[in-house]
Amino acid sequence: MRLLACFLSTIFVVSAYKSYDGYQVITSRTVTLRDLSEPRRLENDPEYIFWARPAVGRPLHVMTSQISIGKLWSELEHLNLAPSVYIEDVGPVLAKADEKRQKLMDIPLNRAVSFDRYMTLQEILDYTAEVVQNYPLHSSLLELGTTYEGNPLRAVKVSNGPGKRGIFLDAGTHAREHITHPLALKAIFELVENYDQNKALVDLFDWYILPVANPDGYNYTFNEDRFWRKNRSPNVGSDCVGTDPNRNYDINWGIDGDANPCSEAYRGVAAFSEAESSAIGSALRDIENNGGLALYMSTHCYGTFLIYPWGFTYEFPVTYDELAKAANLTATAIEAVNGTRFVIGSSANVYFPAVGASMDYAYAVGNNNTYSYTWELPAGGEFGFAPLPEDILPIVSETWEGIKALANYVNTQVLK
Ligand SMILES: [Zn+2]
Repeated sequence: MRLLACFLSTIFVVSAYKSYDGYQVITSRTVTLRDLSEPRRLENDPEYIFWARPAVGRPLHVMTSQISIGKLWSELEHLNLAPSVYIEDVGPVLAKADEKRQKLMDIPLNRAVSFDRYMTLQEILDYTAEVVQNYPLHSSLLELGTTYEGNPLRAVKVSNGPGKRGIFLDAGTHAREHITHPLALKAIFELVENYDQNKALVDLFDWYILPVANPDGYNYTFNEDRFWRKNRSPNVGSDCVGTDPNRNYDINWGIDGDANPCSEAYRGVAAFSEAESSAIGSALRDIENNGGLALYMSTHCYGTFLIYPWGFTYEFPVTYDELAKAANLTATAIEAVNGTRFVIGSSANVYFPAVGASMDYAYAVGNNNTYSYTWELPAGGEFGFAPLPEDILPIVSETWEGIKALANYVNTQVLK
């Protein structure tokens, strides 16, 4: 009977998963600074799913269904962006990745952390509970809030004494960006379980790590739609579900941004209308008011970018030189590991203008003194936002080296 139930649930999961048969990913020539504004219009079309968003020095990767391929192709030709096929058919690629994932799911984790495969939401929640239980002297859980579907926004706080400035790192704001969650787990593992080796970092700062910043969406990517990006809260008057939490922060919200609930980057009905952004915003203010928010990092993928404010304007922030200097030495530390080269710059200028992002909000909360960054981690290739399992550990390990270098540098600086 149990076997039958298991079999039936497997069938259910497979049949419920959204098919991407016939979807193609179209790429372009390298985007230049002059190209940046035009592809933005395409981003507002819900038919187009941007794997790689318009960014200087990178080609676009845009996924769309068979019906819209012709339209996308002519739009890109019209913009002189030289379209070509990147992935002929996403369906079989996804099936291959899913088959591998299903096999790996049989590996029991015994409540340990794993970098051999992508952990489910429940496994991550179990791990965080377990790790603070095992290391109560320097770690604790912080429940920052509860999502629309009732899932906890659970951070791990790592601290060995009062009076320190804070570092906040979140992962998975965009549900499908699966390589980010293991990075947060790597940080928890190193700071909590590997405390003896990393004690110096905990002597310097209190660390707040939120490994799943969009748990409803993350669950949905495992059970329903691999390419889901937003949260799962419904929208009044629309059949389209979800808001992009990273367009919902109370920082110049409403001066621009996507007001279409069907869009992938929908900003929501009001600033902080969403549980995820509201909870993180509140945590950042608390940290600022209790010792100061020294460093904020929001982790995304993909693109191999390390970007800093502002996102809402092309203007440079007051601490531009410092933010750039710190980003540079971080990129250098990462490159020393495996040669991976991050592009650095202010968000609107090298990546894309975006209003209501957490990075801008954190910078403002810290009175423009916080070192505030968005990471676009290396990923891509045919597996898009979730590199093959064997690539998880190399990516998160090299990035962790960068985070350590960044934290050590920030410790030596108090911005005025
Ligand atoms: Zn993202």
